[in-house]
Amino acid sequence: MKFYNLKENDEKVSFAGAVRQGLGKNQGLFFPEEIPALDNIQELLALPLVERSVKVLYPFVKDDLSESELKEIVTAAFNFPALLQPITEDRAILELFHGPTLAFKDFGARFMAQCLQKFSKEKKITILTATSGDTGAAVAHAFHGLDNIRVVIMYPKGKISLLQEKMFTTLGGNIETLAIDGDFDDCQALVKQAFDDKALAAEIGLNSANSINISRLLAQICYYFEAVAQLSRQKSKSQLGDVVFSIPSGNFGNLTAGLFAKALGLPIKRFIAATNENDTVPRYLETGDWSPNETVATMSNAMDVSNPNNWPRVEHMLKAGIIEEAAVSSVSVGEEQTQSTMLQLNKLGYICEPHAAVAYKAMQYGVTEQEFGVFLGTAHPAKFKEVVESILGQPLGLPKELADCAGEKILSSDMTPDFALLREYLLKGN
Ligand SMILES: *Cc1c(COP(=O)(O)O)cnc(C)c1O
Repeated sequence: MKFYNLKENDEKVSFAGAVRQGLGKNQGLFFPEEIPALDNIQELLALPLVERSVKVLYPFVKDDLSESELKEIVTAAFNFPALLQPITEDRAILELFHGPTLAFKDFGARFMAQCLQKFSKEKKITILTATSGDTGAAVAHAFHGLDNIRVVIMYPKGKISLLQEKMFTTLGGNIETLAIDGDFDDCQALVKQAFDDKALAAEIGLNSANSINISRLLAQICYYFEAVAQLSRQKSKSQLGDVVFSIPSGNFGNLTAGLFAKALGLPIKRFIAATNENDTVPRYLETGDWSPNETVATMSNAMDVSNPNNWPRVEHMLKAGIIEEAAVSSVSVGEEQTQSTMLQLNKLGYICEPHAAVAYKAMQYGVTEQEFGVFLGTAHPAKFKEVVESILGQPLGLPKELADCAGEKILSSDMTPDFALLREYLLKGN
């Protein structure tokens, strides 16, 4: 299967090309030429995660990987579970935070790292990525110690929690981190400028591990299948009703992957894209007017994005009729509502961090009695220890992954959001 550029449709590349290149010409995103309907969904659902994921992903990658190579990659990448936990009779959380950096981004980043290593044996590459928190950790851990790969991660200085910062700025080795004096959108803009600079990109073998990389999205399809597989084991069809996913959204990569899963034939009725006060998408779906505001800082800081970079893929699926428009809605949830939802979930016996709370709250607007709501648990509550403890008024333990890095020294350099400086930095260290 080929992947084509959504902006420059003549540009077509294989899976390996799309993984290596990240972005296409004119900053266009790659999109699969076809999304093959899978006809054996029930059989697939009966398989274990790794076996099933190989079958789901193989059609996308088969020009570049054999089934057994793909299996090696998936086995190395998905070495931790996705767990569905019931909250009430008709609500469950899909906990995606049992990987090494305690966030769902481990799925995509680990799969991407394994693929890239396979596809770039001869030439040294530089991963340049922007993070509002969890991407940095997931990418740093996924690539740490891999030969021939230099990783440079930029993040908005002072805008992520200390523990989050420690999870990716303390590794050293092939992982370099830059604290940018700006917000996440500034970091993202620097990444785009670097990719536009063709001479630079060629010189250092530039690659982005952002959620624009198609390999990350493909990996994320797999846990939607896992959720439905676990649900159908836990509930009979009549008990279950129609499955609705509520997705805490920032760059909308998670939503994109969910839409791919639905297009492949996974029985999902619809999606709610839940945002915090950075509400470009909910306003757009209501008014048809794309008008990003200044990014505002919220408790769910991994979703503090006002210009989501995966939106063109979602838009394409809706416009091309791959997904019917009624299957996607979007809700913005404010800070106070997020807090009260965390308290409400705590009363139900579930400790939740702000991102998942936004998604839980969004389901309270209009999930019907015939529907079963699954919201995505995108991060472990301990990653947001300070805010969770202060809202719930109870201490949280630190899981081992966090305790291990809490005492380490931050190795970042500071930089103003100036592309000339970044360029110099990248060339110097190459
Ligand atoms: C990245 C992230 C999100 C947003 O995911 P997108 O795919 O960018 O929409 C939500 N929650 C957490 C905890 C994250 O790290």
